[in-house]
Amino acid sequence: MSVFDELEAEYEEVVFFHDPPTGLKAIVAIHSTALGPALGGTRFWPFESEEEALRDVLRLSRGMTYKAAAAGLDLGGGKAVIIGDPKRDKSEELLRAYGRFIETLGGRYITAEDIGTARDDMDVIRRETHYVTGVAPELGGSGDPSPVTAYGVYLGMLACMEEVGQEHSLQGRRVAVQGVGKVGYHLVKHLVEDGGANVVVSDIDVDLVARAVRDFGVDTADPDKIHAAECDIFAPCAMGGIIRDDTIPELKCSIVAGSANNQLGRPEHGEALAGAGILYAPDYVINAGGLINVADELQGYNAERARARVESIYRTLREIFNIARDRHVTTSAAADAFATERIGRIGRVRLYWTPGGRGWAKNWGGR
Ligand code: NAD
Repeated sequence: MSVFDELEAEYEEVVFFHDPPTGLKAIVAIHSTALGPALGGTRFWPFESEEEALRDVLRLSRGMTYKAAAAGLDLGGGKAVIIGDPKRDKSEELLRAYGRFIETLGGRYITAEDIGTARDDMDVIRRETHYVTGVAPELGGSGDPSPVTAYGVYLGMLACMEEVGQEHSLQGRRVAVQGVGKVGYHLVKHLVEDGGANVVVSDIDVDLVARAVRDFGVDTADPDKIHAAECDIFAPCAMGGIIRDDTIPELKCSIVAGSANNQLGRPEHGEALAGAGILYAPDYVINAGGLINVADELQGYNAERARARVESIYRTLREIFNIARDRHVTTSAAADAFATERIGRIGRVRLYWTPGGRGWAKNWGGR
């Protein structure tokens, strides 16, 4: 594989860190800093090969650029991977070596948790670098992002209801929630307690299903069939790839709106949904609450301000649906256009040099 072929002209920087005594092998990909420092999580995963790790970090960092831009943040897109089995290879010294490497990037990349890393790890990394978010609340962190993500999804559903010609309300509407884990549970709470919706849930973990039934009196469905439930909204809140060739013909909803990342098995499935008359809320737009929440840490975390910022998800989705209608494109294509056009407009303005480097991203010198 040629690394430069992989990078093409699109990526700003890719950094490889190796610290043999701790076994640290990490790659940081900075896709874009046009809007601000590149923020994205660190994935600790036993990749089959270095090539696979590089491909993943490149793909994920690009996704973060779009997500941050669409969320209206002054942040770019980046991501990191640590190659190894987190259960076997994670140690304090490895994480601290990683933190020191992150520090050398001078704030161009800011890390956070992802698959294989948790908040405790961010607390360790923070001992060596300013450029980490998602640390413990007592260290100035924003805590678990899931309730905020769920709130954003709930508001996004209201935008979807309006788009399909319904009222700004979920009262009496049927919503099928796939996965009642950290986000799904809080989403069901909003749907039932704030929205007055009629909810059916599924999860492969029977204890989590029992918790949702106990707390909110919801109906339950077979995990293999929840996507085919009779409902107004199908909300994927489990794994990615649930919108596929075999599931699309079985959908009985008019809206797909949930927190899961990468809901479409392939990009063409966005067209298939539109063809079936189903409105799709692009995943990286509706689930941006977690990123908006963690980004707030960079200014000294304020839960009220973060929650207010998450309300922008409603307005952004309305705008994206307008673009899709006006340009006769899918909502996913409209979201990509919305993000890239913002990078173009705001990124250009940021080319002007200002004395002392104004703008919060530059002002922020860490804690
Ligand atoms: P989680 O692991 O707490 O919950 C996922 C739940 O889905 C689990 O309870 C799991 O048992 C269940 N599940 C797995 N396969 C299933 C299946 N086939 N059918 C039904 N249930 C199944 O994770 P989470 O933090 O709630 O995240 C849910 C999704 O939202 C993920 O795709 C995640 O990447 C995405 N997301 C989460 C956040 C956040 O703030 N936590 C932010 C953005 C995106």
